[in-house]
Amino acid sequence: MINTNEILSKYGLKLTKSLGQNFLTDANIIRKIVDTAEVDKNDLVLEVGPGIGALTARLADRAGRVVAVEIDRRLLGPLSETLGGFENVQVIHADIMRTDLWELTANWKGSLKVVSNLPYYITTPVIMNMLESGIPWDLLVFMVQKEVVSRMVATPGTKDYSALSVAVRYYAEPKLAFQVSRNCFIPKPDVDSAVVKLKKRSLSQPAHLNRKLLFMVIKAAFSQRRKTLLNSLGKQPWLDGGKERLREILRQMGLSEDTRAEVLSVEQFIHLSGELCKNYHHKTGKQDDNNSIG
Ligand code: SAM
Repeated sequence: MINTNEILSKYGLKLTKSLGQNFLTDANIIRKIVDTAEVDKNDLVLEVGPGIGALTARLADRAGRVVAVEIDRRLLGPLSETLGGFENVQVIHADIMRTDLWELTANWKGSLKVVSNLPYYITTPVIMNMLESGIPWDLLVFMVQKEVVSRMVATPGTKDYSALSVAVRYYAEPKLAFQVSRNCFIPKPDVDSAVVKLKKRSLSQPAHLNRKLLFMVIKAAFSQRRKTLLNSLGKQPWLDGGKERLREILRQMGLSEDTRAEVLSVEQFIHLSGELCKNYHHKTGKQDDNNSIG
């Protein structure tokens, strides 16, 4: 196991809070993350933020190849020391939000996994970016704040159910793997963490439904979660047929007029969006998949 304090003092490194630098120091937790991802030689593992390589080294023990993207130039020296013995690891100095994920993972014939102790300040954008990128991942395993995991795994009708829960379920089956105490890091973060496992799924959906529109509906529906769908969606400019049409669709779906976003499953969002916006891309004339879920 890499000795974090020793490496930090050898390189005179002060960790940067704004980059979410809380390094894992518990060998048992690291092993559990690798086990959760069921890493083997057939896998290319993409890691966001290797830090000084504590998790990276254990991934490299078991994976075919590891590609680790680190934004902080100061960590490149320590990383070449701690990962120097591995021929199957490539460290890339870059910001994951500005990196072409397709390029990183190209030419790999085996399965693709993303395994990462994510920097806290960008957990949701990184996760959404991975999900939406379209890269052919099989499994994503992320350590993030406990609250974010609660939102990711929440089911309809529960208090944590949110736009993020629906978005995640559109792409994956989320599962809480285990919780991690704040004492397992240097420095100790202000919050507890948890590990979430996302297994790829593909849902059937109407051919005409474009993803941008689906996500617009999800976002608008949750933006005022206390409002009924009739009120939160009823006046949206992209809605075909206005409130009347919406009322009719809700009735066809067996839903009452005072239904709120928080009770709808992802399958129901897909159905609702498909019905609501049948003419959407005839109007805009293009498919644009860019969207953001916070
Ligand atoms: N993997 C290490 C571990 O588990 O001990 C470090 C995890 S630490 C929570 C997050 C790491 O992500 C830090 O090394 C930080 O410098 C890096 N990082 C932060 N923002 C990043 C970004 N936009 N792109 C790539 N790496 C980033």
